[in-house]
Amino acid sequence: MLFKGGNNKSVFDKIDDYLVKRGHELVMSIYLSNYNGNNIYVRFDYIRKLAVYKIVWVDLNFFDEKHIEDFISIQMVTKYLSLKIVEVMNKIEYDNSYSLDDDIMGDRVEILSYFKEEPREFIFDRFLPLEWEQLIDPLALIFSYLPRSMEVFLQEIFAKFDGTEEKFNYTKPIKFDLLNGDSLKMFRAVSIEAGTRLYDSGKVTFLEKVDNKYLAIVEDNGPHLILLQSIDNEYVLMWCDCKASYYCKHIYAALLALRNKKFNSFYKVKYVGKEETLLEKVTLGTFYYAFGIVDDKILLVTSDGKWFPTQIIQNGKCVFEVIEDDDECTLSKELEKYKIK
Ligand SMILES: [Zn+2]
Repeated sequence: MLFKGGNNKSVFDKIDDYLVKRGHELVMSIYLSNYNGNNIYVRFDYIRKLAVYKIVWVDLNFFDEKHIEDFISIQMVTKYLSLKIVEVMNKIEYDNSYSLDDDIMGDRVEILSYFKEEPREFIFDRFLPLEWEQLIDPLALIFSYLPRSMEVFLQEIFAKFDGTEEKFNYTKPIKFDLLNGDSLKMFRAVSIEAGTRLYDSGKVTFLEKVDNKYLAIVEDNGPHLILLQSIDNEYVLMWCDCKASYYCKHIYAALLALRNKKFNSFYKVKYVGKEETLLEKVTLGTFYYAFGIVDDKILLVTSDGKWFPTQIIQNGKCVFEVIEDDDECTLSKELEKYKIK
């Protein structure tokens, strides 16, 4: 944890040394630790000699401790706002408080406050807990001094207060076992119900393991691409390209197909629109995953989970060749029509 000193001077100690030399006394700090991949250290400091407060912030992802002065931002806080921050922080009644969530990977916020005799820590994962309402004002006041681009952190940190946390949880890794996890609490009941219907009626048309993830196509008023990806042993990312910003019925349908081992490989096609190099001739060149043809376009999938329709006829000739098909040669038969054209 951040505030425990070790043998080696941490980057925080070095920043502190630098600031102490300039007359700063730490009054409060906020550390966003691996929050959406960012590591941002913010301080509210008192400069006794001048009787003023300053906000200091450092983006530790872009930090060079040999040139601290170039990587640290320091801003004077107006008297009115300083007094306001001191006032709201002094009112906070909580003792050391921790609200850690094992389902969350990264996204930790560590607040250290020296406003009362004893320093106090408030540590939470991703969202400020509803019962810590008193921290809203000081956080909002301090963030008002940070660059505009950092407002996104505040929106996410406060998401429990406007009920938008599902939107933020979705698209991030979650602790879940794709094959056996029995807690399905991330899914809404309606998504489970509708997803089961999609699966039962055979709408999961493709499912294949590609590198460390599963890609699936679920047909529901058009195709949807679903990605189920292991991040490490415990965490997974589940994502669908539909408009829903939560774990949707398509993801649930794909999960059911995976658990029932209903694999169905994508077609593999090769682009033959240009002269091949010798290497490409020998190695089969690059190939694409595909899942069908619509309106003279072949539906291609990249291994990182995006799909895009591409014209089959280019410069008057068919530019795709099937290198792996299903047992009925479905794609080859369809593509044959374009070769005659
Ligand atoms: Zn979806």
